[in-house]
Amino acid sequence: MKGTKDPVCGMIAKGEFRYDYKGQTFYFCSELCKNKFVESPESYLKLTQLPPESVERTVAYFSMEIAIDASIPTYSGGLGVLAGDTVRSCADLKVPMVAVTLLYKKGYFSQELDDQGNQQELPVEWNPRDYLKPLPHRVTIQIEKRTVIIQAWQHEVSGVTGYSVPIIFLDTDLAENSEYDRRLTDYLYGGDEKYRLAQEIILGIGGARMLNKLGYNKIKKYHMNEGHSGLLTLELLNERKREQEPIWDFEAVRDLCVFTTHTPVPAGHDKFSYDLVKEILGEFVPYDILKMVGGDDLLNMTLLALNLSEYVNGVAKKHGEISRTMFPGYPIDSITNGVHSYTWTSESFRRLYDQYIPGWAKDPYSLRYALSIPKQEIWKAHVEAKMRLIDYVNEHAGVGLDHEIFTIGFGRRATMYKRADFVFSDINRLIDIANTVGRIQFVFAGKAHPKDWPGKELIKKIFYLSQQLHHRINIVYLENYDVELGRLIASGVDLWLNTPQKPNEASGTSGMKAAHNGVPSLSILDGWWIEGCIEGITGWSIDSPMKPVQNEAQELYDKLEGIIIPMFYKEREKWINIMQHSIAINASFFNTHRMVQQYVSNSYIW
Ligand SMILES: *Cc1c(COP(=O)(O)O)cnc(C)c1O
Repeated sequence: MKGTKDPVCGMIAKGEFRYDYKGQTFYFCSELCKNKFVESPESYLKLTQLPPESVERTVAYFSMEIAIDASIPTYSGGLGVLAGDTVRSCADLKVPMVAVTLLYKKGYFSQELDDQGNQQELPVEWNPRDYLKPLPHRVTIQIEKRTVIIQAWQHEVSGVTGYSVPIIFLDTDLAENSEYDRRLTDYLYGGDEKYRLAQEIILGIGGARMLNKLGYNKIKKYHMNEGHSGLLTLELLNERKREQEPIWDFEAVRDLCVFTTHTPVPAGHDKFSYDLVKEILGEFVPYDILKMVGGDDLLNMTLLALNLSEYVNGVAKKHGEISRTMFPGYPIDSITNGVHSYTWTSESFRRLYDQYIPGWAKDPYSLRYALSIPKQEIWKAHVEAKMRLIDYVNEHAGVGLDHEIFTIGFGRRATMYKRADFVFSDINRLIDIANTVGRIQFVFAGKAHPKDWPGKELIKKIFYLSQQLHHRINIVYLENYDVELGRLIASGVDLWLNTPQKPNEASGTSGMKAAHNGVPSLSILDGWWIEGCIEGITGWSIDSPMKPVQNEAQELYDKLEGIIIPMFYKEREKWINIMQHSIAINASFFNTHRMVQQYVSNSYIW
């Protein structure tokens, strides 16, 4: 009896709660667990058997957000989409991975915009039970000296060959936890620093413990997708603590850890004051050790992960370079991001590829053969995707976009450095181009983080401009940008526009989604576009290094006026040739199948 495990939650049973079932006596940790068992003993006993796949998994992938599909609101943007695409490709490629994230019962938020463009954030109502399977296993962590119980949910992402990757969602919303602790897994990027640090404790430390509890005992690599899960390194250090000097086995932990950094500016890295860390986490490892690996003045999650990972990478070649400058002395490699080809290809292009490049979804490298697809077929598939978008816009936003007009798309997080308003730097010039060279219309979408006031102003500015320019240049801003809308816009416009402030775009992925649908990019030469742009072949660049903003804008207008719009309206063959090269050169490379294979060979190989 002593040391007996509760079959419902896996905690140590106290002995006072017992139940006889089929000649066997079961002990429970609480009345609650006992009642749950009595309700349906068979299904509990089945659940408590360890998932058979757990023993064979060797890679654990930790991410603060994962985008699985539009109905599971556990993501906010690029980081989550990348995580979802990574998991999907691992499932297709049979990479033995298990993924860990948080549940977020209230999601990120659902965006509503009034007619001035004021953003309203509404909690997302969703029922995890509709999409995830609750697991009975539980683990505990300490937050501010309170014991917090974590439970888990599971979702399986199935690949094209039937292999699947489980995603474990951690959840603290349990009656046994305090009201504050129950809310810790409600919101993604909500709350204050204290809330954020608590979430990172749940993800990093709780996640590692939950994997152990679930029987994942053959993990050879812990992959941290961004620094949010960095505390996991401390849990691994503690697990390997020795009785005698040297007590700390840094090398063993480094062998286990892989870290992908996503931020090219110092302000973007997660940092916590040691006072806060002491208050929330306590003395988890001695502070002299923590400061040695996490930074002297502040606990810098990037530094922590850097110091305790054997393999570290940035998410594009340029970003690798920037990261090496930011953290001199660390061997930081780069693996350029991708997107999951099948997920981001519109239905009309899926049909086209199925016909001309059978097997493309399993082997997206074969998209290189897009050059041999007849031009009129490419155009037909594009027109179908464009019709779907324009119909959606006209139905939902009532703006009256035109199927024939050159359509420019911009779907991004609304935040200053992404510069959604950049294309309107010189409105008169833009109007002039539309009047003399060829008509244009715009589709925008993107959420601003609830506390990003300048980002919210940006949305209002686009709304204001759309009213100013009405009938001369139609502009629509669609509400609630999510992965479904993302695919609709990136596949349905004629040109994908990207105008971030250099060097803030670590990689960017939406232009890769566009490329999978034959949509070329016009983009500032930053992030992935430095690698993806072949001028006049896969799209066009805007690149005025060290020059004032006006020059960048001028280059944008010059290209729209002199090359892009005339080609679209008057040289359709040439235009379609560019579409084909976007697919053949860029979609065939900037996909997560290639990316995951690089992770496997550069860092996972065990
Ligand atoms: C792809 C995607 C992103 C990331 O796009 P970037 O080009 O990297 O900014 C963000 N949000 C959604 C909904 C997406 O589909």
